[in-house]
Amino acid sequence: MREQLINLAYLVASILFILCLRGLSSPEQGKRGIFLGELGMLVAVVATLLKTEIVRYEFIVVGLLIGSTIGIAISARLPMTKMPERIAFSHAFGGLATSLVGIAEYVKIHEAAEHGGTISRLTIGALGFEVLLGSLTFTGSIMAFGKLQGLITGAPVTWQGQNVMNIGSFIGALALLAYQVAFPTAPAWMFYAMVGIGFTLGIVAVLPIGGADMPVVISLLNSYAGLAACATGFALKSNILIISGALDGSSGLLLSMLMSKAMNRSFANILFGAFGTADSTGVSVAKGGPAKSYNEATIEDAAAVLHACQTVIVVPGYGMAVSQAQHAVRDLAAGLEKRGCDVKYAIHPVAGRMPGHMNVLLAEANVPYDSLYDLDMINDDFARTDAVLVVGANDVVNPAAKTDTSSPIYGMPVFNVEQARSVIVLKRSMNTGFSGVENELFFHANTMMVLGDAKKTLISLFNALKGDGH
Ligand code: NAP
Repeated sequence: MREQLINLAYLVASILFILCLRGLSSPEQGKRGIFLGELGMLVAVVATLLKTEIVRYEFIVVGLLIGSTIGIAISARLPMTKMPERIAFSHAFGGLATSLVGIAEYVKIHEAAEHGGTISRLTIGALGFEVLLGSLTFTGSIMAFGKLQGLITGAPVTWQGQNVMNIGSFIGALALLAYQVAFPTAPAWMFYAMVGIGFTLGIVAVLPIGGADMPVVISLLNSYAGLAACATGFALKSNILIISGALDGSSGLLLSMLMSKAMNRSFANILFGAFGTADSTGVSVAKGGPAKSYNEATIEDAAAVLHACQTVIVVPGYGMAVSQAQHAVRDLAAGLEKRGCDVKYAIHPVAGRMPGHMNVLLAEANVPYDSLYDLDMINDDFARTDAVLVVGANDVVNPAAKTDTSSPIYGMPVFNVEQARSVIVLKRSMNTGFSGVENELFFHANTMMVLGDAKKTLISLFNALKGDGH
């Protein structure tokens, strides 16, 4: 009876996880989706705690308290811009936990086998996948965290024969796994060698990947962690782990594919290429090259242009997140709309540093969802627009992605910002964006550069338009 109730609870939890993912596919339903996911996790955890295999609760309660305290302390004051680092950190521990569970289970069944028990091929196969992917996810995510946080260099670290070594190690680990599936009582060192290869692979596979590609790598590692959990489910005969792991694994893989597509890069290119070598602090475009002239404008100049506009498109980017300018953007847009101006927001799929970054920030500032337009929906509108207000965006408005075949971002879909009558760019300096590539847009005749922190500039623009002679 208890077992049936637990399985029923797992079924409810699985349905809630699926509804969660469905909710996360649209900004309107996002919050509800998260809530359903949390509810599903609560149901799954409570049901698992009712299992008869659990004989003592002390360790579980202590672990829960320590984990929750650390989790709350880390997340409570974390700025949104640090979310990729935070996610990498969580995945690392998810991977480590999966590996440790796999090792504990292996020790248990191996001891049982020494006393006459049998080891099934399915169990050893599932445990092998679990520890290999889990250990790879652990060190890979720690490396991704270190690169994003600047603790280790964000530039690709490469050496001769690297790909051959990495692929060879992976094939070696698979061969060890295949041997153990064929002969389940194979010596234990083979299992532990696989764990060791997993830990090493996580390090050497992420080292050659540039910092700019880290969010895609994190999403891919998330997918591995899900597959490892799924394998754990087979080893422990837990339906909820199989279902939730499969959902995590497949959604992580789909997300990685969507992100790669939005950056016009293939997986192979991300894993073995060297795009994103730029330091995230940016490189001055003037460095080493001939100085180019650009139109540096004052707040009054920009306000005068906006005053005359009937149509404005706002293009937010990573700088809006850094400056936390989303409320100031909304206020300025509301002020313009009051004057009869039509304001739209153009949202690039990889603007910012994580998928949906701009949507989340603008939703927080109560910008209506129907004012947000995807790349495909809005790209033809720029040519009919009076002014574009670029708020801390750079790579996603770089025309070189369309025209310069030698540019590392060539082929990445970008907004046709340069086609608007006027372009007002808000950023602090002439530095490059995340890809480290110079942006020709900033030197166009119809572009005005208003240099300074985006939030401060937007507030000044709002006041200039409100108070004023305009
Ligand atoms: P970006 O190209 O990184 O440019 C952001 C700009 O914001 C910088 O040039 C910076 O210039 C400016 N900025 C920073 N702080 C500012 C502040 N306080 N006030 C005003 N401006 C500020 O950003 P993006 O156009 O959003 O493009 C995103 C990039 O990240 C793309 O290359 C994309 O491929 C990559 N990426 C994104 C994701 C994702 O999931 N979203 C994943 C992987 C990679 P200053 O320093 O001069 O101010």
